[in-house]
Amino acid sequence: YVIQLCLPLNSLGFVYRESRDALVNTEKLFQLLRETPEVPEPPGLPDLHVAKGEVVFENVSFGYEPGRTILHNVSFRIAPGTTVAVVGGSGSGKSTLARLLLRFYDVGGGRVLVDGQDIRSVSTRSLRAAIGVVPQETLLFNDTIAYNIGYGRSDATMDDIVAAAKAAHIHELIESLPQKYDTPVGERGVKMSGGEKQRIALARAILKNPPLLIFDEATSALDSQSERAIQDELDQLSQNRTALVIAHRLSTVVDAGEILVMDRGRIIERGPHAELLRKGGAYARLWQLQQSSEHSEEREKELLSVG
Ligand code: ATP
Repeated sequence: YVIQLCLPLNSLGFVYRESRDALVNTEKLFQLLRETPEVPEPPGLPDLHVAKGEVVFENVSFGYEPGRTILHNVSFRIAPGTTVAVVGGSGSGKSTLARLLLRFYDVGGGRVLVDGQDIRSVSTRSLRAAIGVVPQETLLFNDTIAYNIGYGRSDATMDDIVAAAKAAHIHELIESLPQKYDTPVGERGVKMSGGEKQRIALARAILKNPPLLIFDEATSALDSQSERAIQDELDQLSQNRTALVIAHRLSTVVDAGEILVMDRGRIIERGPHAELLRKGGAYARLWQLQQSSEHSEEREKELLSVG
């Protein structure tokens, strides 16, 4: 008991400190995909045409409400087929970038471009159809597992669904359930762990096969096996796809083409991992902090297993 009481309540460091609101917001992010666009759009807009899959944020400023600017002049480019990872403290504006790319809100200043097209000039439906989202907390519909995976691609066959589940390493688990793919999940169905739910979201994204991907990494600690499996799948899924990853574990970002470090709505550092470490700035400090907290987490596990 004494040992446990001495352990830090949140041993994972400040990058893990999350507000409940943020969690709920990203849940909504996915839910919203099947609802009408929040932003009014004139009728007859052409569909987005994705050729290479380049994403550009050009001098983007944004606030949810007047008088409070959340993003200040943010510019970055995700080259086709590459990954940009965003890190930064809670409330620094990471998820807001994802919401703007999905056009849940319009920018206050600047532009968001996909393959050169301002996302305000194309139909929101076609924009969202081009983007796969793996949210940090997956909301399952009160329906069967098959429905939950297949939803988002109405022409998916059962074979497609099973192939996606296999790729997301969730097939075996599904097969072990009494009703297999017909097992009801969601609030009234079989309960699934955070890792399992995220794998279902991954299967969904694999099935959708979108040119663009938004991955909002889970902040809640998954068991390390799930975490590893999801990481492997994400690596595969993001290959040859343009991906925006909102990263909560610095270990995830090591391989990203570019890392953006956000602080209060501004990009304060950018570059690949090794370069940022050499620089010895904010990213290097975050990295050190996380290394030591991971260390203390391991220590915690050791102590608990002894106890
Ligand atoms: P976290 O790591 O905690 O998820 P974040 O970096 O993703 O944080 P955002 O969710 O982008 O941060 O939020 C940036 C800021 O915008 C925060 O100050 C937040 O309070 C504010 N904000 C987010 N959503 C809304 C909203 N719907 N209305 C008003 N303010 C909001």
